[in-house]
Amino acid sequence: MLTRTSSIRFALFASLAIAVFAVAAWKLNAAFQIPEPKTEPKIIDPGDAAHAPSDAIVLFDGKDLSNWGAVNGGAPAKWEVKDGAMVVVRGTGAIRTKQEFDDVQLHIEWATPAEVVGEGQGRGNSGVFLQGLYEVQVLDSYNNKTYFYGQAGSIYKQYPPLVNASRKPGEWQTYDIIYHAPIFGDDGRVKKKATITVLHNGVLIQDHAEVFGATTHEPVFPSYTKHGKGPIILQDHGNPVRFRNVWIRQL
Ligand code: MG
Repeated sequence: MLTRTSSIRFALFASLAIAVFAVAAWKLNAAFQIPEPKTEPKIIDPGDAAHAPSDAIVLFDGKDLSNWGAVNGGAPAKWEVKDGAMVVVRGTGAIRTKQEFDDVQLHIEWATPAEVVGEGQGRGNSGVFLQGLYEVQVLDSYNNKTYFYGQAGSIYKQYPPLVNASRKPGEWQTYDIIYHAPIFGDDGRVKKKATITVLHNGVLIQDHAEVFGATTHEPVFPSYTKHGKGPIILQDHGNPVRFRNVWIRQL
């Protein structure tokens, strides 16, 4: 039987042991905390609906096509600039940024013609190609049926949008795209596929979608071919789609 004195000794010893253990555990845990970053995040002006963030490259400010060229042959872009927008001129071909990019955040506003002409893929069709290869579809998808992975906000023929957040024909709409370029190995094979996230009019419609390969209209499975940086390309699909307030941030 324990005496009163030895009980007190035991209790004291146990309390001390628990305290030592608690301190040791706390120290050990603290040793594994995430170290505080030493560099302050760069301070930028975020802009607003009409102004790009201060660290963005403005690709189109409503005035001219100086940052754009024709896709083929380095000729000047032949689209029209009207009322602060650049407008597809049928038959003049796709246009491309003079500058090339890989991982980016891209903001682009677009409007399909207010006067509805055609149906399905023939109605307000254009497209935004990341690195010139991977298309986020632009289409008048307001009461306009087409195949789901060809409607507005689809990654063309690969992923339909998560929801159809389309506004009416003629109304301005926004895409905010976060794009990560594919990474290729020395053998030319894709090691990490491209990913695309899209907000359409502020609504998430592509959530880090893994791109299967370069956009193709052919009935084949898309594939990758090793490439470096590439331009943003806007498609001439024969419809007078308008674009404005285009800016990009290299990530
Ligand atoms: Mg298209």
